[in-house]
Amino acid sequence: MQIHSEPRIAVLAEVVRNQIAAGEVIERPASVVKELVENALDAGATHIRVDLEEGGVKLVRVVDDGCGMGPEDLALAFEAHATSKLRAPEDLEHIASLGFRGEALASMSSVARCRILSRPASGTAAAEIRDEGGRRSPVIPAGGPAGTTIEVRDLFFNVPARRRFLKTTSTEYARCLDVVQRAALANATLAGGGVGFVVTHDGKRALDVEADMPLLARIRRIFGNDVVAELEVVDAVEGGIAISGYVAPPRFARRDTTRQMWFLNGRSVRDKVLLRVLKEAYRGVLEEGRQPVAFLQLALDPALVDVNVHPAKSEVRFRDERRLFGFVVNALREAVRRTDMATPGETLLQSRLRREGRTDAGPYLPDPGPLQRHEEGSTAPLRAAGIPDRAELYRGPRAPYEQLDRGAAFSNAAPARDAREPWSGESSAREGSAAPSTWAPVDDLRGPYLQVARTYIVRALPDGFEIVDQHALHERLTYEGLLADVRGQRVEVQRWLTPELVEVGRADLELLSEHFDALRRIGIDLAPFGIDTVAVQGLPVRLKRPDPAGLVRDLVELIGRTGRTPEAADVIEEVLHRAACRSSVMAGDTLSQDEIEALLRRARETGEDQTCPHARPTRVRFTLADLEKAFHRR
Ligand code: ADP
Ligand code: MG
Repeated sequence: MQIHSEPRIAVLAEVVRNQIAAGEVIERPASVVKELVENALDAGATHIRVDLEEGGVKLVRVVDDGCGMGPEDLALAFEAHATSKLRAPEDLEHIASLGFRGEALASMSSVARCRILSRPASGTAAAEIRDEGGRRSPVIPAGGPAGTTIEVRDLFFNVPARRRFLKTTSTEYARCLDVVQRAALANATLAGGGVGFVVTHDGKRALDVEADMPLLARIRRIFGNDVVAELEVVDAVEGGIAISGYVAPPRFARRDTTRQMWFLNGRSVRDKVLLRVLKEAYRGVLEEGRQPVAFLQLALDPALVDVNVHPAKSEVRFRDERRLFGFVVNALREAVRRTDMATPGETLLQSRLRREGRTDAGPYLPDPGPLQRHEEGSTAPLRAAGIPDRAELYRGPRAPYEQLDRGAAFSNAAPARDAREPWSGESSAREGSAAPSTWAPVDDLRGPYLQVARTYIVRALPDGFEIVDQHALHERLTYEGLLADVRGQRVEVQRWLTPELVEVGRADLELLSEHFDALRRIGIDLAPFGIDTVAVQGLPVRLKRPDPAGLVRDLVELIGRTGRTPEAADVIEEVLHRAACRSSVMAGDTLSQDEIEALLRRARETGEDQTCPHARPTRVRFTLADLEKAFHRR
C-alpha cells in the first residue's frame, strides 16, 4: 500500500525565524532600550542619549559616541547571528561584552521599523541602512557625527498579537527609564568617571547623568536624598574579585526588591545567588519579609561566570559560588554593621508634623551619622561629587559626640567585671573574642540615667539624648553572647537537678532523639523520658529565665521543616534567637544606675547593639537639632 501525503515540513522564512527569536529578546520597548544601550556600551561610548516617544512604542532612539560602524558592518548589522563580539566557540567561555548573540538588531528589525546611522571614529563619512519588518534597504551614504544612532519605530507594527500585550504608555515608559537608570548605576565608579546618560520622553528631559558623576551622586539623582544620606560604602578587593557600592541601614528595608541592585561586570543582573548573599549579610538585623536596600557592583574575571544562560542575560551562573561568596558576604556584613541602625528621633518628629498637616517642618535635617564613621578614603567620592560628608553637614554639636564614640568603637575589650551585673552571672573569662591590647575607659557612659516605665533608659548625649529599650538591648546581648559561645565551642551549660519535662508525642520524640548529640554540643541537653516526653536536663547559662517547653517546640518545628540535623547556625538563628528573647530579663525590671551603666557598657563592647535580634531598633536618638525643631526654635 502506498501512502500519499502533502509535505508538511518546510523551513521557515528568515523574517519569521527572527520574529520567533524576537519573542525571547524583544518583549517590550524596555527590551529595545536595553539592547541598544548595551550595544552603545559595548561600542565604548561615554555619552549615551535615549529619546523615547509614547513609552517607547512609537520610538526608541539611542545615540552614542562609540566606535561606530563602517558600510560593510552596516550591511551585516541586521543579519541574524551577526556579531563582532564572538569569533570562536571558546570565546563563549569568557564573555566580557554585554552582547554576544548577534540577535538583537535582527530581532528588532523583524518586528519594527529600524534605521541605523553610523560613522566610525576613524572614518570621515557616515552611512545608513534601514530594515522595516525584514524589508531591508541598501547601505547609502549619509551625514552624521562619529558614533551611532539607532532608531526603532512602531514596535510590533506587524505583529498585532504582541502589540496587544503592551501595557499603558506610562508603564512602558517607566520600564524604559528603569533600564537606563540601571545602566547609569552599572557604569559608574565610587570616585567618579563613567558613562553619561540623557533620557527624554516625548521631548521632555527625564534623566540627566553626567559622565563624571560618581555612583553615590547617581543614586541621589535617581532615588533622592533620603536614602543617600544614610548609605554606607562597600569597597573591597580579594583574589581578583572586587565588590563596591553602597548598603542602606536595615530600617530602610522594603517589601520588594526594587531598591536592590546588583551589577556584575557592568551588567544589571537579578540573580538568586546574589539575593541570598545580601540576605546573609543582613542576617540578624532584618525584619521578616523585608528586603534590604543596596546598590552593588561586582567585578570578576569573566571566565568565572556564565552569562549565556538566559536570552535576556539577566540571570547568570557562577562557577565557584562558595569561594566568591565568603569574601563578598564578609565585606557586605562589615559595611552593614557600619550603618546607623538607631532610629533617628528626627524622623519620628517629621512624621508627626506631617500627620498634623504642618508644612513648616523645614528642610530635611541630616542624621548625625553612624556611631562609627567610615574611613577617610570612603568619603572622598562624596566630596568629589560636591556632596558634603554627613559629618561635615553636622559639624557643630557633632564633634564631641563623634570623638567619644570613636574611642569606644575601637575598645571592645572587656572591662573589669564586678558585681554590677547581677543578671549576667558570667565569668569574664568566657567573654572576649580577640581581646585588643588597650582598654580606653568610656567616660560618657556615666549616669544619671532615667528609667521610664521600667522599660526605657534615657541618657544624655553631648548633642541630644537617646532612649534605649532595655529589653531589646538585652535580647541582643544574650543572642550575641550565645553566638560567640557556640562558634568558640565553649557553651556553658546550666544543668538542672530536676529536669523539665515536655510532652512532645511519640513521632516528635523519635525525630528529636536522632539529634540529641548534635544539640548537646551547643548546650541543649535533652534526654528521652518515657515514650512521648523529652526531659530538658540543661540549657546554656546565658539563657536566664529560660522557657524549655517553648524551646523544645521550636526545635521540633525546625527539624520537622528541614528534615536534617540542625547545624549550629540554624539552631542559633531560629531556636536560640527566640530563646534569647523569651529569656531576657530586662523587661519590666527596675535597674539601678550601676546596672544600667553595665548594660550599656556591655552593649558598646559587643558592637552589635543597634537592633534586637528580630531587628527592632534598640534605641532612638534625638539630636539638639531635632529638639530645636520640635520647640519651633528654627
Ligand atoms: P550583539 O550585540 O550580540 O553582537 P546585536 O544584534 O545587538 O548583536 O548587534 C550586532 C552587531 O552590530 C554588534 O556585534 C556590533 O558589531 C554592531 N553594533 C550594534 N550596535 C552598535 C553600536 N551602537 N555601535 C557600534 N556597533 C554596533
Ligand atoms: Mg547587542
